[in-house]
Amino acid sequence: MSGSALYETFARAPLAFERGEGSWLITESGERYLDFAAGIAVNSLGHCHPHLVAALTEQAGKLWHVSNLYQIPGQSRLGERLVEASFADRVFFTNSGAEALECAIKTARRYHYINGRPERFRTITFEGAFHGRTLATIAAGGQQKYLDGFGPKADGFDQVPFGDIEAVEKAIGPETAAILLEPVQGEGGIRAFPAPFLDKLRALADKHDLLLILDEVQTGIGRTGKLFAYQWSSIEPDIMAIAKGIGGGFPVGACLATEKAAAGMTPGVHGTTFGGNPLAMAVGNAVLDVVLEEDFLDSVQARALNARQMLASLVDEFPQVFEDVRGNGLLMGLKCRMANTAVLAAVIDTKMLAVTAGDNVLRLLPPLTVSDEEIREAGERIRAAAAGLAALATEKVA
Ligand SMILES: *Cc1c(COP(=O)(O)O)cnc(C)c1O
Repeated sequence: MSGSALYETFARAPLAFERGEGSWLITESGERYLDFAAGIAVNSLGHCHPHLVAALTEQAGKLWHVSNLYQIPGQSRLGERLVEASFADRVFFTNSGAEALECAIKTARRYHYINGRPERFRTITFEGAFHGRTLATIAAGGQQKYLDGFGPKADGFDQVPFGDIEAVEKAIGPETAAILLEPVQGEGGIRAFPAPFLDKLRALADKHDLLLILDEVQTGIGRTGKLFAYQWSSIEPDIMAIAKGIGGGFPVGACLATEKAAAGMTPGVHGTTFGGNPLAMAVGNAVLDVVLEEDFLDSVQARALNARQMLASLVDEFPQVFEDVRGNGLLMGLKCRMANTAVLAAVIDTKMLAVTAGDNVLRLLPPLTVSDEEIREAGERIRAAAAGLAALATEKVA
């Protein structure tokens, strides 16, 4: 027995935080950590943003929860705002990213079902993908380590190599319903699909009447410097899942779709108890108040440029530790030469938080409200960590 009542599913660092302020987390003993993990791209506006605190506490004094059996004005409003700011016509609210993906996959299957092709239920996904931890989304992600021990993999997912358009074309069969991808793979190691590849996917989807589903759970809500990452490209999806940043730390997710794609989602075919409840919607609307402010996304892009230069200079300075910089906007990665877990441990020793990702990458996801001064501070801390690691490596060789 480990002495804990909790499932041992998380390898938790021995750190507990009591408070948060902007880009900083503070332990019970008052130590301040610079937070470039942001709850894995969740705390989009940092910790305890005054506008979010006010929205949540105001709503908490009025009404916490009503069932989706009734009208929820905050939900209609957030839905309309997301529609206004995106390709979508319809929105379904959830509590998490995985649930948003479940809704996306179900929406695609129902589209074909109501159009007289019930045999079309399969979704093509990409190696390195991460779509969540439910039985369907581990099948969609296709990573063996997440599938092991949970019985037969849910049917209906066909995985192809990253960015391989010929493999996609070959994988399309009479049962194919949709293509699903993250415009930039997050857990997979901050790997962006090139814009021309997205164009080709869109063309293939149109040619075969497949639905193109984007997983913007990590990339959405300003993380890349536009509201949604697809807005950097010339394509639009038919369906899109978001979560993480839209709640700024409150559990919120959503599935967005065009009128046409959502046509099969008729009364009774899908549902949720908590999704879109008044507390969640108050916070989601408050996040959009800030992110949609004029200049906010421009300032994210300016911060990101600055951060990228800082990271690039660290790669030049410590070639034994880092290989290159990846990412878009404030979704950033340092591809490591040493084990990314060792690099993360050294960074945490400097009282700074980051996260690992696949492909031996150290992920840096500061709040979108991070300041230039905090980016400079992050650079110093990573430099101190890297200098220590580089010295150790030289010692070993000598
Ligand atoms: C985090 C994440 C998910 C899963 O979200 P949960 O809220 O943990 O269910 C799905 N897709 C992507 C791209 C993610 O980053």
